[in-house]
Amino acid sequence: MSVTVRFAPSPTGPLHMGGVRTALYNYLFAKKHNGRFILRIEDTDQSRYVPGAEEYIMESLAWCGILWDEGPDKDGPHRPYRQSERKELYRKYALQLIESGHAYYAFDTPAELEAMRKRLESEKLSNPQYDCHTRMEMKNSLTMSKDQVNDHIASGNHYVIRAHIPEGREIVVNDLIRGQVRVNSSLLDDKVLFKSDGMPTYHLANVVDDHLMQVSHVIRGEEWLPSAPLHVLLYEFFGWHQSMPLFAHLPLLLKPDGNGKLSKRDGDRLGFPVFPLAWKDPKSGELSSGYKESGYFSEAFVNILALLGWNPGTDQEMFTMDELIESFTLDRVGKSGSKFDPEKAKWFNHQYLQSKSTEELAASYIRLLEEKDMQIDTQKAIRITAMVRERINFIHEMWEQTAFLFIAPSSYDEAFARKKWKPETPGILNALEKHLKEAIPFDVENISKAFQSYMDETGTGMGQIMPGLRLALVGEGKGPDLKEIMEILGKEEVLTRIARATENL
Ligand code: GLU
Repeated sequence: MSVTVRFAPSPTGPLHMGGVRTALYNYLFAKKHNGRFILRIEDTDQSRYVPGAEEYIMESLAWCGILWDEGPDKDGPHRPYRQSERKELYRKYALQLIESGHAYYAFDTPAELEAMRKRLESEKLSNPQYDCHTRMEMKNSLTMSKDQVNDHIASGNHYVIRAHIPEGREIVVNDLIRGQVRVNSSLLDDKVLFKSDGMPTYHLANVVDDHLMQVSHVIRGEEWLPSAPLHVLLYEFFGWHQSMPLFAHLPLLLKPDGNGKLSKRDGDRLGFPVFPLAWKDPKSGELSSGYKESGYFSEAFVNILALLGWNPGTDQEMFTMDELIESFTLDRVGKSGSKFDPEKAKWFNHQYLQSKSTEELAASYIRLLEEKDMQIDTQKAIRITAMVRERINFIHEMWEQTAFLFIAPSSYDEAFARKKWKPETPGILNALEKHLKEAIPFDVENISKAFQSYMDETGTGMGQIMPGLRLALVGEGKGPDLKEIMEILGKEEVLTRIARATENL
Protein backbone atom coordinates (compact mmCIF):
# COMPACT_ATOMS: atom_id res chain seq x y z
CA MET A 1 0.00 0.00 0.00
CA SER A 2 1.39 3.42 -0.79
CA VAL A 3 1.59 5.59 2.29
CA THR A 4 0.12 9.08 2.48
CA VAL A 5 -0.21 10.82 5.82
CA ARG A 6 -1.20 14.28 6.82
CA PHE A 7 -0.69 16.66 9.67
CA ALA A 8 -3.85 18.72 9.93
CA PRO A 9 -3.48 21.51 12.50
CA SER A 10 -6.09 24.18 13.10
CA PRO A 11 -4.52 27.65 13.19
CA THR A 12 -6.01 28.53 16.56
CA GLY A 13 -2.74 29.47 18.25
CA PRO A 14 0.85 28.33 18.60
CA LEU A 15 1.64 24.68 18.06
CA HIS A 16 2.05 22.79 21.34
CA MET A 17 5.00 20.38 21.54
CA GLY A 18 2.46 17.54 21.53
CA GLY A 19 1.33 18.77 18.12
CA VAL A 20 4.92 18.84 16.89
CA ARG A 21 5.30 15.25 18.06
CA THR A 22 2.20 14.26 16.05
CA ALA A 23 3.69 15.95 12.99
CA LEU A 24 7.02 14.24 13.62
CA TYR A 25 5.52 10.75 13.87
CA ASN A 26 3.58 11.36 10.65
CA TYR A 27 6.75 12.55 8.95
CA LEU A 28 8.83 9.61 10.18
CA PHE A 29 6.18 7.15 9.14
CA ALA A 30 5.87 8.70 5.67
CA LYS A 31 9.63 8.80 5.09
CA LYS A 32 10.12 5.29 6.37
CA HIS A 33 7.62 3.99 3.83
CA ASN A 34 8.68 6.27 0.97
CA GLY A 35 5.30 7.90 1.30
CA ARG A 36 3.99 11.44 1.16
CA PHE A 37 3.50 13.85 4.01
CA ILE A 38 0.79 16.46 3.57
CA LEU A 39 0.38 19.59 5.63
CA ARG A 40 -3.29 20.56 5.64
CA ILE A 41 -4.54 23.64 7.41
CA GLU A 42 -7.95 23.03 9.00
CA ASP A 43 -9.28 26.55 9.29
CA THR A 44 -13.01 26.02 8.90
CA ASP A 45 -13.85 27.39 12.32
CA GLN A 46 -13.38 31.06 11.58
CA SER A 47 -14.33 32.07 15.12
CA ARG A 48 -11.19 30.36 16.44
CA TYR A 49 -8.84 31.60 13.73
CA VAL A 50 -5.76 33.33 15.12
CA PRO A 51 -3.70 35.53 12.78
CA GLY A 52 -0.12 34.39 12.51
CA ALA A 53 -0.80 30.87 13.76
CA GLU A 54 -0.50 29.24 10.33
CA GLU A 55 2.85 30.91 9.68
CA TYR A 56 3.94 29.92 13.16
CA ILE A 57 3.05 26.27 12.52
CA MET A 58 4.97 26.21 9.26
CA GLU A 59 8.03 27.93 10.74
CA SER A 60 8.04 25.54 13.68
CA LEU A 61 7.89 22.44 11.51
CA ALA A 62 10.59 23.82 9.22
CA TRP A 63 12.82 24.56 12.22
CA CYS A 64 12.44 20.94 13.31
CA GLY A 65 13.25 19.66 9.83
CA ILE A 66 9.76 18.17 9.50
CA LEU A 67 9.28 19.00 5.85
CA TRP A 68 6.03 18.44 4.00
CA ASP A 69 5.71 17.24 0.43
CA GLU A 70 2.39 18.98 -0.17
CA GLY A 71 0.94 21.95 1.67
CA PRO A 72 -0.39 25.50 1.43
CA ASP A 73 2.96 26.74 0.13
CA LYS A 74 3.78 23.64 -1.93
CA ASP A 75 1.87 22.56 -4.95
CA GLY A 76 0.51 19.04 -5.19
CA PRO A 77 -2.21 16.94 -6.79
CA HIS A 78 -4.71 17.64 -4.00
CA ARG A 79 -4.45 21.42 -3.77
CA PRO A 80 -5.62 23.63 -2.20
CA TYR A 81 -4.37 22.54 1.22
CA ARG A 82 -6.19 25.14 3.26
CA GLN A 83 -9.75 24.07 4.04
CA SER A 84 -11.15 27.59 3.80
CA GLU A 85 -10.04 27.50 0.15
CA ARG A 86 -11.85 24.20 -0.36
CA LYS A 87 -15.07 25.59 1.07
CA GLU A 88 -17.19 25.06 -2.05
CA LEU A 89 -16.40 21.39 -2.12
CA TYR A 90 -17.95 20.36 1.16
CA ARG A 91 -21.54 21.42 0.49
CA LYS A 92 -21.87 18.78 -2.21
CA TYR A 93 -20.87 16.05 0.24
CA ALA A 94 -23.20 17.34 2.94
CA LEU A 95 -26.10 17.30 0.47
CA GLN A 96 -25.12 13.82 -0.68
CA LEU A 97 -25.55 12.61 2.90
CA ILE A 98 -28.95 14.31 3.14
CA GLU A 99 -30.06 12.57 -0.03
CA SER A 100 -28.91 9.17 1.17
CA GLY A 101 -30.66 9.70 4.51
CA HIS A 102 -27.45 9.82 6.50
CA ALA A 103 -27.84 13.45 7.46
CA TYR A 104 -30.69 15.91 8.01
CA TYR A 105 -31.36 19.62 8.29
CA ALA A 106 -31.91 21.01 11.75
CA PHE A 107 -33.40 24.45 12.39
CA ASP A 108 -33.33 24.64 16.18
CA THR A 109 -32.40 28.06 17.49
CA PRO A 110 -29.77 28.41 20.22
CA ALA A 111 -32.62 29.10 22.68
CA GLU A 112 -34.40 25.89 21.67
CA LEU A 113 -31.21 23.87 22.04
CA GLU A 114 -30.64 25.38 25.45
CA ALA A 115 -34.23 24.54 26.46
CA MET A 116 -33.67 20.95 25.34
CA ARG A 117 -30.48 20.72 27.38
CA LYS A 118 -32.25 22.05 30.47
CA ARG A 119 -35.15 19.68 30.03
CA LEU A 120 -32.88 16.66 29.60
CA GLU A 121 -30.85 17.67 32.59
CA SER A 122 -33.95 17.95 34.74
CA GLU A 123 -34.95 14.47 33.60
CA LYS A 124 -31.52 13.40 34.88
CA LEU A 125 -30.54 11.80 31.61
CA SER A 126 -27.00 10.54 31.80
CA ASN A 127 -26.03 11.75 28.37
CA PRO A 128 -28.10 14.79 27.41
CA GLN A 129 -27.42 15.44 23.75
CA TYR A 130 -28.98 15.78 20.29
CA ASP A 131 -29.18 12.09 19.37
CA CYS A 132 -31.41 9.13 18.55
CA HIS A 133 -33.30 9.66 21.82
CA THR A 134 -34.04 13.33 21.32
CA ARG A 135 -33.93 14.18 17.64
CA MET A 136 -37.62 13.41 17.05
CA GLU A 137 -38.58 16.09 19.58
CA MET A 138 -36.61 18.77 17.78
CA LYS A 139 -37.07 21.06 14.78
CA ASN A 140 -35.49 19.22 11.89
CA SER A 141 -36.18 17.66 8.54
CA LEU A 142 -37.05 14.37 10.23
CA THR A 143 -39.91 15.96 12.17
CA MET A 144 -41.04 18.58 9.63
CA SER A 145 -42.74 18.19 6.28
CA LYS A 146 -40.74 18.62 3.07
CA ASP A 147 -42.57 21.88 2.36
CA GLN A 148 -41.81 23.27 5.79
CA VAL A 149 -38.16 22.40 5.32
CA ASN A 150 -38.04 24.02 1.89
CA ASP A 151 -39.77 27.13 3.25
CA HIS A 152 -37.25 27.44 6.05
CA ILE A 153 -34.31 27.12 3.70
CA ALA A 154 -35.82 29.42 1.10
CA SER A 155 -36.50 32.15 3.63
CA GLY A 156 -32.83 32.07 4.64
CA ASN A 157 -33.36 30.76 8.13
CA HIS A 158 -30.28 29.57 9.90
CA TYR A 159 -29.79 25.80 9.71
CA VAL A 160 -27.21 23.12 10.28
CA ILE A 161 -26.83 19.69 8.73
CA ARG A 162 -26.50 16.95 11.30
CA ALA A 163 -25.28 13.37 10.95
CA HIS A 164 -28.13 10.87 11.25
CA ILE A 165 -26.46 8.38 13.56
CA PRO A 166 -28.01 4.91 13.42
CA GLU A 167 -29.34 3.41 16.64
CA GLY A 168 -27.86 0.43 18.47
CA ARG A 169 -25.06 -0.38 16.09
CA GLU A 170 -21.67 -1.52 17.25
CA ILE A 171 -19.01 0.59 15.60
CA VAL A 172 -15.50 -0.78 15.52
CA VAL A 173 -12.49 1.47 15.21
CA ASN A 174 -9.39 -0.53 14.40
CA ASP A 175 -6.60 1.47 15.91
CA LEU A 176 -2.99 0.55 15.18
CA ILE A 177 -1.98 1.57 18.70
CA ARG A 178 -5.02 0.70 20.79
CA GLY A 179 -6.36 -2.29 18.95
CA GLN A 180 -10.12 -2.57 18.48
CA VAL A 181 -12.20 0.15 20.08
CA ARG A 182 -15.90 -0.68 20.11
CA VAL A 183 -18.65 1.86 20.64
CA ASN A 184 -22.42 1.54 20.61
CA SER A 185 -23.73 4.09 18.12
CA SER A 186 -26.64 5.01 20.43
CA LEU A 187 -24.09 6.80 22.60
CA LEU A 188 -23.03 9.12 19.78
CA ASP A 189 -24.69 12.46 19.16
CA ASP A 190 -25.88 13.71 15.81
CA LYS A 191 -22.85 15.92 15.23
CA VAL A 192 -23.18 19.04 13.14
CA LEU A 193 -21.47 18.47 9.81
CA PHE A 194 -22.26 21.66 7.95
CA LYS A 195 -23.57 25.12 8.77
CA SER A 196 -25.72 27.48 6.77
CA ASP A 197 -22.81 29.93 6.55
CA GLY A 198 -21.47 27.44 4.02
CA MET A 199 -18.72 26.12 6.24
CA PRO A 200 -18.29 22.46 7.09
CA THR A 201 -17.36 21.46 10.62
CA TYR A 202 -14.14 19.65 11.40
CA HIS A 203 -15.70 16.18 11.12
CA LEU A 204 -17.05 16.54 7.61
CA ALA A 205 -14.10 18.46 6.19
CA ASN A 206 -11.60 16.11 7.81
CA VAL A 207 -13.17 12.93 6.46
CA VAL A 208 -13.85 14.35 2.99
CA ASP A 209 -10.30 15.65 2.69
CA ASP A 210 -8.67 12.51 4.01
CA HIS A 211 -10.61 10.62 1.39
CA LEU A 212 -9.93 13.02 -1.48
CA MET A 213 -6.26 13.31 -0.55
CA GLN A 214 -6.02 9.52 -0.46
CA VAL A 215 -4.69 9.50 3.07
CA SER A 216 -3.68 5.96 4.00
CA HIS A 217 -2.95 6.49 7.72
CA VAL A 218 -4.49 8.99 10.10
CA ILE A 219 -1.92 9.47 12.86
CA ARG A 220 -3.20 12.01 15.39
CA GLY A 221 -3.56 12.79 19.07
CA GLU A 222 -5.63 10.67 21.41
CA GLU A 223 -8.06 13.54 21.96
CA TRP A 224 -9.55 12.64 18.58
CA LEU A 225 -10.27 9.03 19.48
CA PRO A 226 -13.85 9.85 20.62
CA SER A 227 -14.49 11.32 17.14
CA ALA A 228 -13.19 8.25 15.34
CA PRO A 229 -16.47 6.23 15.50
CA LEU A 230 -18.28 9.12 13.80
CA HIS A 231 -15.55 9.26 11.18
CA VAL A 232 -15.84 5.52 10.57
CA LEU A 233 -19.59 5.99 10.10
CA LEU A 234 -19.04 8.87 7.69
CA TYR A 235 -16.74 6.72 5.54
CA GLU A 236 -19.48 4.15 5.51
CA PHE A 237 -22.23 6.70 4.69
CA PHE A 238 -20.23 7.91 1.71
CA GLY A 239 -19.50 4.37 0.55
CA TRP A 240 -15.77 4.88 1.11
CA HIS A 241 -15.41 2.16 3.69
CA GLN A 242 -13.11 0.05 1.52
CA SER A 243 -10.51 2.80 1.24
CA MET A 244 -10.88 4.10 4.78
CA PRO A 245 -7.51 5.15 6.24
CA LEU A 246 -6.00 3.20 9.11
CA PHE A 247 -6.09 5.02 12.43
CA ALA A 248 -3.35 5.49 15.00
CA HIS A 249 -4.21 7.62 18.03
CA LEU A 250 -1.12 8.78 19.86
CA PRO A 251 -0.99 8.86 23.67
CA LEU A 252 -0.94 12.18 25.48
CA LEU A 253 2.11 14.04 26.67
CA LEU A 254 1.75 14.26 30.43
CA LYS A 255 2.91 16.86 32.94
CA PRO A 256 6.26 16.19 34.65
CA ASP A 257 4.57 15.96 38.06
CA GLY A 258 1.15 14.65 38.97
CA ASN A 259 -1.33 13.56 36.33
CA GLY A 260 -2.89 15.08 33.29
CA LYS A 261 -2.04 16.58 29.97
CA LEU A 262 1.06 18.74 29.68
CA SER A 263 -0.09 22.33 29.44
CA LYS A 264 1.43 25.75 29.01
CA ARG A 265 0.68 26.36 32.67
CA ASP A 266 3.00 23.47 33.64
CA GLY A 267 5.74 25.04 31.56
CA ASP A 268 5.22 28.43 33.23
CA ARG A 269 5.11 26.84 36.65
CA LEU A 270 8.18 24.63 36.24
CA GLY A 271 10.18 26.87 33.92
CA PHE A 272 10.29 25.15 30.54
CA PRO A 273 8.78 26.01 27.15
CA VAL A 274 5.88 24.03 25.70
CA PHE A 275 6.08 25.62 22.26
CA PRO A 276 8.78 25.05 19.64
CA LEU A 277 9.23 28.77 18.92
CA ALA A 278 8.46 31.83 21.01
CA TRP A 279 4.93 33.16 20.45
CA LYS A 280 3.32 36.48 21.05
CA ASP A 281 -0.43 36.28 21.43
CA PRO A 282 -1.80 38.82 18.94
CA LYS A 283 -4.72 39.76 21.21
CA SER A 284 -3.30 39.80 24.72
CA GLY A 285 0.30 40.49 23.74
CA GLU A 286 1.30 37.72 26.13
CA LEU A 287 4.70 36.20 25.34
CA SER A 288 5.38 32.48 25.53
CA SER A 289 8.87 31.07 25.40
CA GLY A 290 10.02 28.62 22.74
CA TYR A 291 12.54 25.80 22.66
CA LYS A 292 14.50 27.53 19.92
CA GLU A 293 14.88 30.79 21.80
CA SER A 294 15.63 28.93 25.03
CA GLY A 295 18.74 27.56 23.36
CA TYR A 296 17.67 24.09 22.28
CA PHE A 297 19.13 22.64 19.12
CA SER A 298 16.34 21.56 16.82
CA GLU A 299 17.95 18.09 16.58
CA ALA A 300 17.77 17.76 20.36
CA PHE A 301 14.15 18.91 20.45
CA VAL A 302 13.20 16.38 17.77
CA ASN A 303 15.11 13.63 19.59
CA ILE A 304 13.29 14.44 22.83
CA LEU A 305 9.88 14.38 21.13
CA ALA A 306 10.60 11.16 19.27
CA LEU A 307 11.15 9.30 22.53
CA LEU A 308 8.04 10.70 24.22
CA GLY A 309 5.66 7.91 23.37
CA TRP A 310 7.81 5.79 21.07
CA ASN A 311 10.57 3.46 22.20
CA PRO A 312 13.18 2.01 19.88
CA GLY A 313 13.29 -1.32 21.72
CA THR A 314 17.00 -0.78 22.46
CA ASP A 315 19.01 1.39 24.86
CA GLN A 316 19.83 3.90 22.16
CA GLU A 317 18.81 7.41 23.14
CA MET A 318 20.52 9.64 20.63
CA PHE A 319 18.94 9.58 17.18
CA THR A 320 19.51 11.66 14.09
CA MET A 321 16.46 12.27 11.92
CA ASP A 322 17.69 9.62 9.48
CA GLU A 323 18.10 7.11 12.28
CA LEU A 324 14.60 7.91 13.51
CA ILE A 325 13.19 7.35 10.05
CA GLU A 326 15.03 4.06 9.89
CA SER A 327 13.88 2.82 13.31
CA PHE A 328 10.38 4.26 13.66
CA THR A 329 7.43 1.90 13.75
CA LEU A 330 3.92 2.54 15.01
CA ASP A 331 3.86 -0.72 16.93
CA ARG A 332 6.47 0.71 19.27
CA VAL A 333 4.26 3.64 20.18
CA GLY A 334 2.87 2.98 23.66
CA LYS A 335 -0.76 3.17 24.70
CA SER A 336 -0.21 5.16 27.87
CA GLY A 337 0.80 8.79 28.12
CA SER A 338 4.43 9.82 28.48
CA LYS A 339 5.58 12.11 31.23
CA PHE A 340 7.68 14.97 30.01
CA ASP A 341 10.92 15.34 31.97
CA PRO A 342 12.40 18.85 31.60
CA GLU A 343 15.72 17.77 33.14
CA LYS A 344 16.07 14.99 30.60
CA ALA A 345 15.35 17.55 27.88
CA LYS A 346 18.32 19.60 29.09
CA TRP A 347 20.42 16.44 29.16
CA PHE A 348 19.62 15.85 25.50
CA ASN A 349 20.69 19.36 24.61
CA HIS A 350 23.88 18.86 26.58
CA GLN A 351 24.63 15.72 24.59
CA TYR A 352 24.06 17.48 21.28
CA LEU A 353 26.20 20.38 22.40
CA GLN A 354 29.04 18.03 23.33
CA SER A 355 28.84 16.38 19.94
CA LYS A 356 29.66 19.67 18.16
CA SER A 357 33.22 20.69 17.39
CA THR A 358 34.83 23.35 19.55
CA GLU A 359 35.22 25.54 16.44
CA GLU A 360 31.48 25.39 15.77
CA LEU A 361 30.63 26.19 19.38
CA ALA A 362 33.20 28.99 19.37
CA ALA A 363 31.51 30.53 16.32
CA SER A 364 28.24 30.60 18.29
CA TYR A 365 30.11 32.06 21.24
CA ILE A 366 31.53 34.84 19.06
CA ARG A 367 27.99 35.65 17.88
CA LEU A 368 26.77 35.66 21.46
CA LEU A 369 29.46 38.15 22.41
CA GLU A 370 28.73 40.28 19.34
CA GLU A 371 25.14 40.58 20.50
CA LYS A 372 26.59 42.15 23.64
CA ASP A 373 28.77 44.44 21.52
CA MET A 374 31.89 42.56 22.46
CA GLN A 375 34.66 41.48 20.13
CA ILE A 376 36.95 38.54 20.61
CA ASP A 377 39.49 36.95 18.32
CA THR A 378 38.75 33.48 17.07
CA GLN A 379 41.69 31.74 18.73
CA LYS A 380 40.79 33.14 22.11
CA ALA A 381 37.13 32.22 21.58
CA ILE A 382 38.16 28.65 20.78
CA ARG A 383 40.35 28.54 23.88
CA ILE A 384 37.55 29.75 26.15
CA THR A 385 35.01 27.47 24.51
CA ALA A 386 37.24 24.44 25.05
CA MET A 387 37.54 25.43 28.70
CA VAL A 388 33.80 25.64 29.48
CA ARG A 389 32.04 23.46 26.90
CA GLU A 390 31.56 20.50 29.21
CA ARG A 391 29.98 22.64 31.89
CA ILE A 392 27.05 23.88 29.81
CA ASN A 393 23.73 22.65 28.43
CA PHE A 394 23.07 25.68 26.22
CA ILE A 395 25.24 28.04 24.19
CA HIS A 396 23.84 31.05 26.07
CA GLU A 397 25.20 29.61 29.30
CA MET A 398 28.67 30.32 27.94
CA TRP A 399 28.13 33.93 28.81
CA GLU A 400 27.24 33.21 32.44
CA GLN A 401 30.23 30.88 32.61
CA THR A 402 32.71 33.32 31.12
CA ALA A 403 31.45 36.83 31.88
CA PHE A 404 34.12 37.18 34.60
CA LEU A 405 36.77 36.99 31.89
CA PHE A 406 35.47 40.29 30.49
CA ILE A 407 34.13 42.00 33.57
CA ALA A 408 36.19 42.01 36.75
CA PRO A 409 34.25 41.00 39.85
CA SER A 410 32.55 43.95 41.51
CA SER A 411 31.55 41.87 44.51
CA TYR A 412 32.68 38.60 46.05
CA ASP A 413 30.66 35.54 47.05
CA GLU A 414 30.10 36.25 50.73
CA ALA A 415 29.61 32.72 52.00
CA PHE A 416 32.70 31.50 50.19
CA ALA A 417 34.74 34.51 51.37
CA ARG A 418 33.69 33.92 54.98
CA LYS A 419 34.98 30.38 54.77
CA LYS A 420 38.05 30.72 52.59
CA TRP A 421 39.35 34.29 52.83
CA LYS A 422 41.58 34.01 55.87
CA PRO A 423 43.50 36.79 57.64
CA GLU A 424 46.70 35.50 56.01
CA THR A 425 45.24 35.35 52.47
CA PRO A 426 46.13 38.93 51.42
CA GLY A 427 49.71 38.31 52.50
CA ILE A 428 49.90 35.07 50.56
CA LEU A 429 48.52 36.68 47.40
CA ASN A 430 50.79 39.70 47.65
CA ALA A 431 53.81 37.44 48.06
CA LEU A 432 52.65 35.35 45.10
CA GLU A 433 52.70 38.45 42.89
CA LYS A 434 56.48 38.54 42.70
CA HIS A 435 56.53 34.99 41.28
CA LEU A 436 53.73 35.62 38.84
CA LYS A 437 55.54 38.66 37.48
CA GLU A 438 58.42 36.37 36.56
CA ALA A 439 56.17 34.08 34.50
CA ILE A 440 57.09 34.98 30.90
CA PRO A 441 55.25 34.28 28.71
CA PHE A 442 52.29 34.24 31.03
CA ASP A 443 50.94 30.82 30.12
CA VAL A 444 49.69 27.78 32.01
CA GLU A 445 53.15 26.22 32.12
CA ASN A 446 54.93 29.27 33.52
CA ILE A 447 52.07 30.04 35.86
CA SER A 448 52.44 26.50 37.28
CA LYS A 449 56.16 27.13 37.72
CA ALA A 450 55.42 30.39 39.50
CA PHE A 451 53.14 28.58 41.95
CA GLN A 452 55.80 25.95 42.50
CA SER A 453 58.61 28.41 43.18
CA TYR A 454 56.36 30.32 45.57
CA MET A 455 55.48 27.12 47.44
CA ASP A 456 59.11 26.01 47.54
CA GLU A 457 60.15 29.34 48.95
CA THR A 458 57.44 29.67 51.58
CA GLY A 459 56.42 26.12 52.36
CA THR A 460 52.75 26.94 51.64
CA GLY A 461 50.48 24.42 49.89
CA MET A 462 48.13 24.83 46.90
CA GLY A 463 45.16 24.58 49.28
CA GLN A 464 46.21 27.85 50.93
CA ILE A 465 46.61 29.72 47.67
CA MET A 466 43.86 28.60 45.37
CA PRO A 467 40.56 29.48 47.08
CA GLY A 468 41.57 33.07 47.80
CA LEU A 469 43.09 33.51 44.37
CA ARG A 470 39.94 32.16 42.72
CA LEU A 471 37.81 34.52 44.76
CA ALA A 472 40.01 37.44 43.72
CA LEU A 473 39.93 36.57 40.02
CA VAL A 474 36.43 35.14 39.54
CA GLY A 475 34.46 36.57 42.45
CA GLU A 476 33.19 33.14 43.46
CA GLY A 477 34.39 29.76 44.52
CA LYS A 478 33.73 27.76 41.39
CA GLY A 479 34.67 27.85 37.72
CA PRO A 480 37.08 26.35 35.23
CA ASP A 481 40.75 25.61 35.81
CA LEU A 482 42.36 28.64 37.44
CA LYS A 483 45.67 28.55 35.57
CA GLU A 484 43.81 28.59 32.27
CA ILE A 485 41.71 31.47 33.50
CA MET A 486 44.89 33.32 34.44
CA GLU A 487 46.46 32.83 31.05
CA ILE A 488 43.32 34.10 29.33
CA LEU A 489 43.03 37.11 31.64
CA GLY A 490 46.71 38.02 31.13
CA LYS A 491 49.26 39.01 33.70
CA GLU A 492 48.28 42.62 34.08
CA GLU A 493 44.60 41.87 34.71
CA VAL A 494 45.47 39.08 37.15
CA LEU A 495 47.67 41.42 39.18
CA THR A 496 45.06 44.18 39.11
CA ARG A 497 42.35 41.81 40.35
CA ILE A 498 44.59 40.48 43.13
CA ALA A 499 45.37 44.01 44.23
CA ARG A 500 41.69 44.98 44.21
CA ALA A 501 40.67 41.91 46.23
CA THR A 502 43.34 42.36 48.86
CA GLU A 503 42.17 45.95 49.30
CA ASN A 504 38.44 45.22 49.41
CA LEU A 505 38.00 41.90 51.12
N1 GLU B 1 -7.65 19.93 12.97
C1 GLU B 1 -7.49 18.90 13.93
C2 GLU B 1 -6.52 19.43 15.00
O1 GLU B 1 -6.38 20.58 15.11
C3 GLU B 1 -6.95 17.68 13.26
C4 GLU B 1 -7.27 16.38 13.92
C5 GLU B 1 -6.96 15.25 12.97
O2 GLU B 1 -5.76 15.05 12.71
O3 GLU B 1 -7.88 14.62 12.49
O4 GLU B 1 -5.89 18.73 15.74
